[in-house]
Amino acid sequence: RGWWNHVIPAPKDPIVSVNEAFLADPFPHKINLGVGTYRDDDGKPFIPRCVREAEAKMERSIDRNSNSSAVTSKFVLESVKLAYGNDSYVVREGLFAGVPALSGTGACRLFAEFQRHFYPHSQIYLPDPTWSNHHNIWGQAQLPIKTFHYYNPDTKGLDFAALIHDVKNAPDCSFFLLHPCAHNPTGVDPTEEQWREISYQFKVKNHFPFFDMAYQGFSTGDLDKDAVALRIFLEDEHLIGCAQTFAKNMGLFGHKVGCLSVVCQDIKQAATVKSQLQKIAHSMYSSPHIHGILLVTMILSDPDMKTLWRKEINVMAKRIQTMRSSLRQSLENLDSSFNWEHITTQGGMFCFSGLTADQVKLLEKLFHIYMTPDGRISMAAVTTSNVKYLANAIHHVTR
Ligand code: PMP
Repeated sequence: RGWWNHVIPAPKDPIVSVNEAFLADPFPHKINLGVGTYRDDDGKPFIPRCVREAEAKMERSIDRNSNSSAVTSKFVLESVKLAYGNDSYVVREGLFAGVPALSGTGACRLFAEFQRHFYPHSQIYLPDPTWSNHHNIWGQAQLPIKTFHYYNPDTKGLDFAALIHDVKNAPDCSFFLLHPCAHNPTGVDPTEEQWREISYQFKVKNHFPFFDMAYQGFSTGDLDKDAVALRIFLEDEHLIGCAQTFAKNMGLFGHKVGCLSVVCQDIKQAATVKSQLQKIAHSMYSSPHIHGILLVTMILSDPDMKTLWRKEINVMAKRIQTMRSSLRQSLENLDSSFNWEHITTQGGMFCFSGLTADQVKLLEKLFHIYMTPDGRISMAAVTTSNVKYLANAIHHVTR
């Protein structure tokens, strides 16, 4: 029987294609600038000390069959504290519906499903550009996708006027996805003042802000400073949604630990919304694996471990900032005729280099350097030992 004869191959994810090409290349000094996870200065995946300590402690003490609903409630509470602030009214008054999710992707997907369920005729506005999977996620939920202006290729910064124009011109009560910090792929974030204006315009239009926070800590090295956008929206009393993941800032990529929270008007509404989120999650994957949730909860609820984690995030963010300066400086030392200022003005894990798709191909062919065709460089893959090689190569293909 030809049950599946009509199934055609799905288009390849651009990042998967970059990884495959990189892995197939035997050159010893090849560089993969496609990876979106943190690496240390030796180019190795980094497991923070707080995670290793939590693993060891868990081996010794935790009852893995411990009441999982008590654990998940604690996990959700600690997660929302990170996003909304320890003393925010949302946390104090319990005005959130929060559930553990399968990492950041799962949190976004769960929200998209929730949105479709309760606003079947709605659409989502995504920044242009955005993490490519956002298009797949809302596409799979069968919700129409619109984009709003975000990046200005001329300035390699934010097109704030165009962004505000699109916010004002979207139909009232539209859903918008925002990256609160360390925007992927551009590394371009609004300033605090610009966030205030965005929040104000959202209020005027009654839009719903959904924050996808995949890189908290990576912009400034400080968890609270990186959450400033959310805090501003809360000050303005928006009801917001938020996806969080510990894949990047805790180096827990394989554990798939994330959280979805939705701010509600009162506790009764919070309980109702939570019950619906749980119902959707339950029908898709029951519940996420408890091991990662236990690890994160242990770190977040132990003051010493949490302090250690905060320090380790700072070290990661600072290393990336150092690599930004170093790459820019190396290009300037080569007397590049291009302006590379954006390497240091952009922030977070990614640099939207401005390299064209043809230049990216040349980097691959001549120098065994791999990145997505949009010219996005994962700064986390740049190290003290490869930065000069990278700068030389970029200089060569842009001359
Ligand atoms: N949102 C954004 C903006 C991301 O960049 C990523 C990871 N690339 C995710 C969500 C997904 O995170 P996770 O790996 O935890 O699913």
